[in-house]
Amino acid sequence: MELYYLDNQFERGTQAILGELGCRVVKGAPRMTGPSVEKGLLEYQCEEDVTLFVTEGAAFVDLRDTADCWLRAKVVAGGPGLQIKADVFRRVQEAVKGIPTSIVQEGSSSKKEGNGKGKSAAAATAAQVVRRYANPRDAFDVIEYHKVRELTCELCRQFFQAGWVTGTGGSISIRHGNRIYMTPSGVQKERLVPNELYVLDITGEVIDSPAPKPNFRPKLTDCSPLFMHAFQMRNAGAVLHSHAYSANMVTQLFDGKKEFQITHQEMIKGIAGHGYRDTLVVPIIENTAHENELADSLGEAMRQYPNAVAVLVRRHGLYVWGNTWEAAKRHGECLHYLFDMALQMSSMGFDFMTKPTSAITAGCFDCSEDTSSSKKRAVESSTGDAVAAKKKTKKALTADYTHVLFDIEGTTTPISFVKEVLFPYSTDMVQAWLEGGQADPAIVEGIKQQAEGDGLKVPSNGELVAFLTKYVQDIVAADRKDPAVKKAQGAIWESGYTSGALKSIVYDDVPPAFQRIKDAGKHVCIYSSGARKAQRLLFQYSDHGDLRPLLSCYFDTTIGHKREAKSYAEIALSLGAEDPATVLFVTDVLEEAQAAKEAGMHTIISIRDGNLPLPKKHGFHTVTTFADF
Ligand SMILES: [Zn+2]
Repeated sequence: MELYYLDNQFERGTQAILGELGCRVVKGAPRMTGPSVEKGLLEYQCEEDVTLFVTEGAAFVDLRDTADCWLRAKVVAGGPGLQIKADVFRRVQEAVKGIPTSIVQEGSSSKKEGNGKGKSAAAATAAQVVRRYANPRDAFDVIEYHKVRELTCELCRQFFQAGWVTGTGGSISIRHGNRIYMTPSGVQKERLVPNELYVLDITGEVIDSPAPKPNFRPKLTDCSPLFMHAFQMRNAGAVLHSHAYSANMVTQLFDGKKEFQITHQEMIKGIAGHGYRDTLVVPIIENTAHENELADSLGEAMRQYPNAVAVLVRRHGLYVWGNTWEAAKRHGECLHYLFDMALQMSSMGFDFMTKPTSAITAGCFDCSEDTSSSKKRAVESSTGDAVAAKKKTKKALTADYTHVLFDIEGTTTPISFVKEVLFPYSTDMVQAWLEGGQADPAIVEGIKQQAEGDGLKVPSNGELVAFLTKYVQDIVAADRKDPAVKKAQGAIWESGYTSGALKSIVYDDVPPAFQRIKDAGKHVCIYSSGARKAQRLLFQYSDHGDLRPLLSCYFDTTIGHKREAKSYAEIALSLGAEDPATVLFVTDVLEEAQAAKEAGMHTIISIRDGNLPLPKKHGFHTVTTFADF
């Protein structure tokens, strides 16, 4: 069956485009000849799916696609029929004037006709005849397909000016209804003209290619398989690929990391689903020698980061998309702004991954230092022999506390143990845990419900283990702290610890410090994002033996988020502390220190190898060893 678009007859229709409209070509003759169909340019809808066959001559059946463009099918006598979905707008006319044409609908049980002889079922049920499409010129007036081509070229010129698509690098793709427009490869994007574009359907099949010219041998952009991921997996309206300097540079600032992150910036609001206080995360994938080899890792990053609207490619650039071309452009603009901001802030020693310090809580330990002295102190600590700063820290450590509250990761235990041992162990063992028969059915059920909540279809028995294994691994890889998955991890760790397969690491200076604090009649407590049970296991099965006798209590995030002041106020109450100031909190995370301080606790930041660097002007005391506790 011949299929093409009326607005540009070089742009073919395909089975995939018909499929997107819910329509298809039906082989063979009608099983039962039903009523004949009225011909003309009137557009109508039917109340049920119908299949049209031509029994004499030939006819055009026009279907209106999702962008108001007419897709024309030429149906001939003896050839296949066209099954059309009820809610698709259509119209039928004779292919050749003067040659008798007879079009019939496949016989159905419906007896809807009754408006008199000669009225077909289709016409009789055509409740919404749309007059504005009655004119033969409609196909050319209503649909301005060429505007999409012009728009693509105009955006290329703008993005060239912005430095996103220079040196023939970078490209863009816009979806219009069921057609996807893409730029050719290796051309100067700022000089592109409308007839040099490619058109594809949703499966990636090319339905129109630009004609070769003396100096122009067209080739489809190498980004095409990457663009198709965004169209197919995210239903994108447009995708941009930028080679901007800043997009490349941030991947080097985050060298060795899988994500770019920034928080507390107004422009984050421009990214769909994000607010000012959110941490914007853009996954980073590694570059390859050829652009199209990136397709698999880009697809994987999209699966792992369902909220991401973009993916960075190391030392290369950015892929960014949106529901419409306007959204994709806005996302591109906001991201490039945020990349520039991160680079500038980082070069000036500012931290773009933490929230700003408000004027009320700014300053130093005793809240009395002014900016100049805190600046001085920053310089002192950075020189390494800051006697005055050391004295102050010592004083802070020996103050009259009743409780010392420790974070785990980056404080008592290397971050690398959690990231490189504990988490991989849970993902490596999840399948064995599910298959071994010791998995708690309530936890498994919780994971299933969570997967369904994510919009995934949970398969039945045969594929269930493989599905849940992959799901848990994806959630852990995305660093999501969902309760059901956390519980599963806890159960897996417990069996690892008790079987002896797993042993935790605490720094050598930790057990003696705990002992001294206890000997002084004070309490050692833990506050960590890992579940309390997992914390207790970690100290029970440590490389320094069972440390539980030294510990008084454990807190996890069920008491509140670690970056919120009220969690620390709650902990002080739970500890029975008369005044939060009698609690000393030790952590490696600046925001946690700020939150604890806001609640009135004294706070010290632990600096250990492998911890994230702190901004220069944080204003907290720091320790690199627990020897002084
Ligand atoms: Zn590229």
